[in-house]
Amino acid sequence: MADAARKDPYAMRDPRTQYPRPAFAKQPQPAPGLAKDMVPKPDHGEASYRGNGRLRGRKALVTGGDSGIGRAAAIAFAREGADVVINYLPSEQKDADEVIALLRGEGCKVAGVPGDLKDEAFCKELVAKAVKELGGLDILANVAGRQQFAKSIEELDTEAFEATFRTNVFALFWLTKAAMPHMPPGAAIVNTASIQAYEPSDILLDYAPTKAAIVAFTKSLAKQAAEKGIRVNAVAPGPVWTPLQPSGGQPQDKLVEFGKNVPLGRPGQPVECAPVYVLLASQEASFVTGETYGVTGGHMLP
Ligand code: NAD
Ligand code: MG
Repeated sequence: MADAARKDPYAMRDPRTQYPRPAFAKQPQPAPGLAKDMVPKPDHGEASYRGNGRLRGRKALVTGGDSGIGRAAAIAFAREGADVVINYLPSEQKDADEVIALLRGEGCKVAGVPGDLKDEAFCKELVAKAVKELGGLDILANVAGRQQFAKSIEELDTEAFEATFRTNVFALFWLTKAAMPHMPPGAAIVNTASIQAYEPSDILLDYAPTKAAIVAFTKSLAKQAAEKGIRVNAVAPGPVWTPLQPSGGQPQDKLVEFGKNVPLGRPGQPVECAPVYVLLASQEASFVTGETYGVTGGHMLP
C-alpha cells in the first residue's frame, strides 16, 4: 500500500484498503500527543504527497503544523511551492523538527514558531512573526485544535470547557483578525471544522459546539472578506488517524475501533485531507468561499 503510494500517488486503488483499518492497539499518550509515538504511523504525505506548483510563491501560516492534518497541509503547501511557517505547542518540538527537517531537506522554506494559541498576545505575535519570516501572508490555515473527551457534563469543568473554546474558537478569531490586514486580494483562509459540527458525540460536549461555531464563523467571515477579495472556507474531517485521538480525544476502547463505523470502514489519514486544503488555498478555488468541505469516509455532512 504505502509502497504503491510512494511510487504513484495517483494510481487507482481501493480506498477501503488503501490505509490501515481497525482494530488498532490501545496507545494512550498525554495531550497533545506526538505523531512519532503512534502505531501505525500516520501518513502525512511525507512519501506520498506530490506537488504540482499549485501554490508557487505563496506565503502560508499553518497552525497545528507539527502533526496530523496540519502537518499534512504544511507538507502539501510546501511541495506545491509555498513558503510555510508552522505553529505548535512547545511540547511538540520533536514532531515539528521532523516536518522542518523533511521540508528543508527538499529545499522548501519552512520555519517553526512554537507557542500557545490560547493566549491572545501570542496569536498576534505569531502572525507578526510569520509575516516577517515570509515577507507577507497569502494563506492562513487554522488547523490547531483541542479535543478531550468527557463522559458526562458532571466531568466537564469550566477550565476544560474554556480551554477548548479558547483553542478552537477564540484563537481563530485572534489569528484571523491579526492576519487579514496583511492578506492581499487572492489570499485564502482555510479553517478546520469537523463532522462533529453536525453530528455531535455525547462525550464531546465542549468540542462539538466549537466546530459548529467554526462553520458559522467561516460563513460569516466569507461574506465580509469577499469585499477584500479574500476567500474563507473550512474543511470538515471525519475520523482521521492523528495524535489528537489517542491523547484524550477518544477513550482507548473507542480508539481500538476508530473509523470502523464510516462507510469506507477505516479512519482517514492526514494526507487524505491535504488536497482539499491545497484546493481551497489555491487559485483553482477562485469561486469557492463560505463552504465547508467534508473529508469523512462517507459519513456525510448534511
Ligand atoms: P493533532 O493533534 O495532530 O493536531 C492538533 C494540533 O493542535 C496539535 O498538533 C497542536 O499543535 C495544536 N494545538 C492544540 N492546542 C494548541 C494550543 N493551545 N496552542 C497551539 N497549538 C495547539 O490532531 P489533528 O486531528 O490533526 O487535529 C487538527 C484539526 O483537525 C483540529 O482542529 C481537529 O479538531 C480537527 N479534526 C480532527 C479530526 C480527527 O479525527 N483527527 C476530525 C475532525 C476534525
Ligand atoms: Mg501535534
